[in-house]
Amino acid sequence: MKGVNIKWLGHAAFEISDQKTTVLIDPWLTNPLSPVKPENVKPDYIVVTHDHSDHLGEAVEISKRTGAPIICVYELANHIIKSGGKAIGMNIGGPAVLNNELKVYLTQAFHSSTYGSPTGAVIFMNGIRIYHAGDTGLFGDMRLIGEIYDPDVALLPIGGFFTMNAEQAAIAVQLIAPRYAIPMHYNTFDVIKQDPHLFEEAVKKLRPSTEVIILKPGEEREIS
Ligand code: ZN
Repeated sequence: MKGVNIKWLGHAAFEISDQKTTVLIDPWLTNPLSPVKPENVKPDYIVVTHDHSDHLGEAVEISKRTGAPIICVYELANHIIKSGGKAIGMNIGGPAVLNNELKVYLTQAFHSSTYGSPTGAVIFMNGIRIYHAGDTGLFGDMRLIGEIYDPDVALLPIGGFFTMNAEQAAIAVQLIAPRYAIPMHYNTFDVIKQDPHLFEEAVKKLRPSTEVIILKPGEEREIS
C-alpha cells in the first residue's frame, strides 16, 4: 500500500516515514517549537536543503550517531564529510536512488548559502511525491517542478523576510498544483511571524482544489 506519514518538527524540519524507512528533512531540532530532541531521532536518511544553521541544524551530529547519510548539494556534502558526518553529495537534477521505494531529486531555490547552491528537494517515497521548497522566494519555474514531479504534497515556507510570504506561497501552490500544501518556516522567531490561515485563505482563492494542512509542531498527517 502506498502512503507516508508527514510530521512537522517546527520551522523547516519534517520527519517523513513509511513502514520501513524514515527520512528527516532540515533537522534543526533545537528550534524553539521542536517536539523532539536531536538525540532522540533515528532516521535512515537526512535531506538538507542548504547550509544555513536553521536548516543544517543538528544534521551532522545525528548522522554521526545513527550513521544516516545526509543527502545534499555536492559542496555542502564535502564540508559535512570534513566535519565527520556521512553525506551523499549530488546536485540539482538527480535522482539519488536510495532504495526501491525512495528517490531524492534536488531542485533550484532562490536563496543564498555558503557551500554550493541552496536547493529544494523532491522526495519520492512509497508511491507519494513530496516537494520541500527549502528556503526560497517565489519563482516561475515552480510550474515546471509541478509538471515534471507532479507532487502530492508541497511543503512551503510562508514566513516572509527570508522567504516567500503567505500570499506569495499561495501563488506557488497555484504554480505547483499539488493535492496538499503544508506551510512551514513561520512563527519560529519574530521576524517570520505569520498567520497560516492567511495562506489557507489565499490558496482557497487561487487554487481551491489544493487542501491546506496546517500542522502544529509534533503533529502528523498520513498521505495515501
Ligand atoms: Zn536559509
